[in-house]
Amino acid sequence: MTFAANDISMRFGGFLALDHVSIEMGESDLVGLIGPNGAGKSTLFAVASGFETASGGRVVFKGQDVTALSPAARARLGLGRTFQVPREFTHLSVLDNLVVAAPGQLGERLVNVFLRPGDIARQRAEIVEKAEGIADFLNLARVIDQPSGKLSGGQKKLLELGRVLMLDPALILLDEPFAGVNPVLVGEISERIGELNGRGVGFLVVEHNLQALSDLVRRMYVMDRGRIIAEGTPDEVLARDAVREAYMGG
Ligand code: ADP
Ligand code: MG
Repeated sequence: MTFAANDISMRFGGFLALDHVSIEMGESDLVGLIGPNGAGKSTLFAVASGFETASGGRVVFKGQDVTALSPAARARLGLGRTFQVPREFTHLSVLDNLVVAAPGQLGERLVNVFLRPGDIARQRAEIVEKAEGIADFLNLARVIDQPSGKLSGGQKKLLELGRVLMLDPALILLDEPFAGVNPVLVGEISERIGELNGRGVGFLVVEHNLQALSDLVRRMYVMDRGRIIAEGTPDEVLARDAVREAYMGG
């Protein structure tokens, strides 16, 4: 099992946002997570990626208990995430947004102390080359020198994905990759996710666009009011009465 959230509970004051939630996925799985607003999807992502500490339960990644690890430590193990609202640095170019997302930036790597200037330049050149490759892959090469604040909604989502790819992730938690994205780019983002998955990258995707998500994933979980209420193939899950009722606000 590559990733598992086991019996996760999350309490905000007196409110139980996650009520004994368990999900699991194997290596290079492509899984969806749906549910009405307020179901707890983003909270589950926050717990899975280490941005929030759960009130109960465990998070396991690549056979290791990562419940107590920071987001950065989880990212180094290959667990990446994007945010529902993209967090790019709007004043930085697309290229620089990718470069600063590389691990070990901002002097984090102590080993840099022992590097000579030539080594540092070579290391930076490698990071830039990787960033350019990712920009190419995501069809952002044309806008690579533009301030990212000027990108369209869909391009910002692609850049957000690109920033995670700089970490060489084994599993990416994607929060609403199609929100605010025009239909043409929805197709393009889906294709890129499918290609990455074909190369072995796993995805857990939260999304409100059920049609696009159903076309993309093989399996999905449904959450409502802090609980998992269904799991299965998209067709199976969307035919369930409980799921229809949750979406009707029942
Ligand atoms: P979803 O992503 O499924 O729309 P969220 O995980 O964002 O839902 O939120 C689930 C519930 O938890 C909501 O009722 C929300 O108001 C509440 N919640 C989320 N984060 C916090 C927080 N930091 N403090 C208090 N309540 C929160
Ligand atoms: Mg959310």
